[in-house]
Amino acid sequence: MASDGRAEAPRTEKLMPGIWRLRLPLPWPGVPHGNAWAVESDGGIVMFDTGMGGKGRLRQLDLALAQAGFGVEDVRLVVCTHSHTDHYGLAGSIVKEAGCELWMHPRWEHVRPLAEDSAAALEARIEVARQSGVPPASLERYRERRQEDEETGIDILKEPDRDLVPGVEVETNLGTWQVYETPGHAPSHVVLHQPERKLLISGDHLLGRTVLFFDHGHSPDPVGEFLSSLDVVEGLDVGLVIPGHGRTFRDPEAKIAESRRQVEELLGKVPAALAGGEEKPAFEIVEEIIGPEMVKTPASAWVLQIVLSCLDHLALAGKVERVEGTDPQRWRLT
Ligand SMILES: [Zn+2]
Ligand SMILES: [Zn+2]
Repeated sequence: MASDGRAEAPRTEKLMPGIWRLRLPLPWPGVPHGNAWAVESDGGIVMFDTGMGGKGRLRQLDLALAQAGFGVEDVRLVVCTHSHTDHYGLAGSIVKEAGCELWMHPRWEHVRPLAEDSAAALEARIEVARQSGVPPASLERYRERRQEDEETGIDILKEPDRDLVPGVEVETNLGTWQVYETPGHAPSHVVLHQPERKLLISGDHLLGRTVLFFDHGHSPDPVGEFLSSLDVVEGLDVGLVIPGHGRTFRDPEAKIAESRRQVEELLGKVPAALAGGEEKPAFEIVEEIIGPEMVKTPASAWVLQIVLSCLDHLALAGKVERVEGTDPQRWRLT
C-alpha cells in the first residue's frame, strides 16, 4: 500500500445483483479503507456514502464505479449515513457532477468548522486537548502533523437538499429503504433499512469489527445516544448488515452485544482510573487505559474523545464530577 493511501486503486465488489461495494482507500493508520455502496435505481445508482474528498479522489470514485458499469454522472441521489469526511467528503463534488440531490440528517453541521476554516477547527481541537491535560510538547507535535496534511477531506461543503429523517424513503431497484436515527458515533448518524430484503446500511454505527468512536462536544451525552441507537437497530429485522468499513456480516445481534460490552468496559475503566479519591485530567485517564506507549501515538487523540464522552455520560449519571477551578480540567468520583 502507498504510504499515504492515495495511489492505491479502489476495488469494487458486487454484493448481490443491484448492489456494489466500492472499497475506497483512506489515508488513516488503522482504518485503511471505507465503503461506499452503489445501489441500482432509476437507470443509474443511489450512492450510500461517498468516501473521502481530496485531490484525485473523485477520479478514484469514478474508476470504482466503472468497475460496476457506471460513472459519477449516473448517480441519481447521494445519501450519507453521517457527515464524517470518509462518508461525506465527496458528496459536494458528486452532486455537482451528476446534478443530483444530497440527503443527510439535519444534525450534519458538526463537520462545518472543519470544512469552512480548518485552521480554526484545528486550534479548537488543540484547546480541548490542552484543557484535557495533553502535555504542550504533544500538542505541538499534533499541530505540526495536522498542518502538514493540508487537505480537510471535504471537497465542497454541501448542505443537504433534503433532511434525512424518519419517514423519508429512499427508492431503489432493490426496494424502499427506511431511515432510522442512530446518533452517538456522530450526531448526524442514521441507518437505512430495507425490510423486505432485511438489509441494513449501518454506516459506522455497527461494524463487523467493533471500533467505538464518539464525536465529542456536539451533544450532551453521545455515549447515552449510542446505547439508545443500539436498541433501535436491535428492534429491526436484519439478515445482512452493510457497513461503512469492512465486510458485510449476518449477525447484528452479536455485534450489538459486543458494542454494549465495550461501552460497559469503558464505563468501568474510566471511574476505576479515579479510584482512591484521585483527581485527574481526562488525558491521564486515557494514559491509564491505553498505556504509556500507545498514549504517544495519534490513537490517543481518538481515545481522548471517547474518554471525554464517557466522563460526560458518567457525570450525567452522578458518578463523576468536574473539580471546580482547575485548568487543565480535573475530574473526580462523586
Ligand atoms: Zn464516522
Ligand atoms: Zn467511517
